[in-house]
Amino acid sequence: MPDCPNCKKDIPSEIFELHEAHCSRFIVLCTQCKQSIPKIKKKDHDKEFHKKAKCPYCSESIDITELPLHKTICNAKPRPCLYCGAIMDLQSLLDHEDHCGSRTEACDICGKNIVIKDLPEHFQNCIEMMEEQEHKEQESLKKKKNNHTTAKKRGKK
Ligand SMILES: [Zn+2]
Ligand SMILES: [Zn+2]
Ligand SMILES: [Zn+2]
Ligand SMILES: [Zn+2]
Ligand SMILES: [Zn+2]
Repeated sequence: MPDCPNCKKDIPSEIFELHEAHCSRFIVLCTQCKQSIPKIKKKDHDKEFHKKAKCPYCSESIDITELPLHKTICNAKPRPCLYCGAIMDLQSLLDHEDHCGSRTEACDICGKNIVIKDLPEHFQNCIEMMEEQEHKEQESLKKKKNNHTTAKKRGKK
């Protein structure tokens, strides 16, 4: 049985020509759900089965059945600001992060005001510096102790 090129249905060859003539005039194949639909009902069909909805992020018209998928991959999907965590759409976020990242915040360790963008790097350096300083202090403390004890010994003598 040959397939009708229009509706893709198997059509008995006896009525194929008749069908095809009729079919191509009155029937369309929905490209989205592969159903053959009377031409005059195509609009209703689209309305009923292929409702479009606007993506809330990029405001593109998306087939309603595909919207959930689109939303997960949409380029304009909002994401949180790297610095303050405020969630906004990508376009405003780029500006915002620029601005937000150049604010300063006091470092928890040294108390200096550091540009937020540089904070992670600063923390790293700051911790290393603090450790180094602590180490030095302990060393000099040890030395002082040693000096003290030797001085005492000398005094006793
Ligand atoms: Zn057909
Ligand atoms: Zn359809
Ligand atoms: Zn989108
Ligand atoms: Zn921010
Ligand atoms: Zn610091």
